[in-house]
Amino acid sequence: MPATPPIPSSVLIIGSGVFGLSTAYALATNPKYKDTVITLVDRSSFPSRDSSSIDTSRIIRPDYADPAYAALADKAQELWRSSEWGADGRYTETGLCVTAGAGGTNYGINSLKNVLDMEAKKLSPNAKVTRKESRGFGRPLIEVLETEADLRRVLGTGGTNGVQGYVNWTSGWGDAEECMHYLNQKVASTQRVRRVRATVSRLDIDHSVSPKKVRGALLDDGRCLFADFTILATGAWTPALLDLRGIARSVAQTVSYITISDSETRALEKMPTPLNLETGLFVISPSANHIKLARHGHGYTNPTRIPHPELPLEEAYHNPITVSIPRTHLTDPPLPEHLPAEATAALRSLCTSLYPPGVAPHDKSFSPLPIAERPFAGTRMCYYTDRPHCDFLIDYHPEYDGSLFVATAGGGHGFKFMPVIGDIIVQCIEGQTPAEFQQKWQWPERRVPEEEEWNLDGSRGGPQGMILEEEYKKGGKAKL
Ligand SMILES: Cc1cc2nc3c(=O)[nH]c(=O)nc-3n(C[C@H](O)[C@H](O)[C@H](O)COP(=O)(O)OP(=O)(O)OC[C@H]3O[C@@H](n4cnc5c(N)ncnc54)[C@H](O)[C@@H]3O)c2cc1C
Repeated sequence: MPATPPIPSSVLIIGSGVFGLSTAYALATNPKYKDTVITLVDRSSFPSRDSSSIDTSRIIRPDYADPAYAALADKAQELWRSSEWGADGRYTETGLCVTAGAGGTNYGINSLKNVLDMEAKKLSPNAKVTRKESRGFGRPLIEVLETEADLRRVLGTGGTNGVQGYVNWTSGWGDAEECMHYLNQKVASTQRVRRVRATVSRLDIDHSVSPKKVRGALLDDGRCLFADFTILATGAWTPALLDLRGIARSVAQTVSYITISDSETRALEKMPTPLNLETGLFVISPSANHIKLARHGHGYTNPTRIPHPELPLEEAYHNPITVSIPRTHLTDPPLPEHLPAEATAALRSLCTSLYPPGVAPHDKSFSPLPIAERPFAGTRMCYYTDRPHCDFLIDYHPEYDGSLFVATAGGGHGFKFMPVIGDIIVQCIEGQTPAEFQQKWQWPERRVPEEEEWNLDGSRGGPQGMILEEEYKKGGKAKL
């Protein structure tokens, strides 16, 4: 990174997910960049239908085992809760119920400690009640749940997905697509950001100078976009544009939806999100006539051979690399409409244990079928961009002399930071990365072999080492 990064006359941001779009907004509203031409390119029209930032819902929680992320999430959450960001139904505070088997998990134990510590700091020294009690809710903000009966009481569906855990009533969820629309409007209202719809096929790298420089991007329609400074924010597609072997990889995560009626939505909408840290299975509080079932897991890799993204074109095809990049319902060929059989079985078992037939509310006027037996109304593969310890990658690429910045690796937890992440990315560009994140977010000194030390952050559950293609080959359609 340059000692004092100059203010660029032009910036190209590639990718309009939560990282790219919030960076565009932060630059466009920062007086220091008033003379900078800002261009934002995305391969899809907004909102990109298979990007990670677009979905019905995303959990918004300060429940992190790592105190630095817990504190930053807590800061973002305060904005979701009490500012324009969470207004008009974009944020709903129904709680997060962290569950596990009898022994618990280190992640759960440390996360509970962190949220209790943060809550304690918010209380005045003599306070005898928690904030929510003092607002008349009549229950503690964070409750330890020692038995299955405690979990069932809190979830209110008659079922559960663990044996013990805790509930943090200060957590919630965001309507991801609506939040992205809101941010998109904020960007548009600045009238500072030129939008281009095109697929970047390669970074435009000047190999003739030493050190090399990124001059912008080459587009698949033959055009080029030039800029002094390029910010790569292409989420799970980043390993196709940069050699990230041993640094970050994309893994597919499974999601399915079940339709419920208005009255079922009303009956279930106050349910906190139950997240089991051993199976990774969770259900976000129902909304808009849908229950969303998903797995915060190790995911499936999709190993793909591609020309080396950073070598000169004439060498790139002779030096291909194998990286995991997304295959989605929009790629050619698209994914099958169903999930791999093992994922269908896992999400089904979650549904049955959370909504036991005959116990969970179901609306006979809508459907005679209990919720657990209804077919999936839709399924989706959504991609995490993971680093070995689930840290973001927000730094200059060391080989391009200050011309290329990377803002990615949101993993399974980047969305919630929307209200704060753009300003922080700009701070990092200016060499002011918050001290507690300097080591976590920097370009790593060494590439970590994926088979060895990719322990992630301890929050993921379920099977490991699965390959997308192989899982699809294993079975036909499991019961939807
Ligand atoms: C199933 C699932 C559940 C999740 N749950 C949560 C949660 O509960 N809470 C939470 O906080 N986070 C959650 N996350 C994580 C969060 O959604 C991501 O960390 C975040 O959305 C990543 O944003 P991004 O901007 O990096 O990537 P994206 O949103 O994927 O944006 C990347 C953009 O780059 C564009 N692009 C890619 N390649 C090119 C190219 N070659 N040319 C031009 N444009 C390109 C894409 O079209 C896309 O718009 C979840 C993620 C998934 C997949």
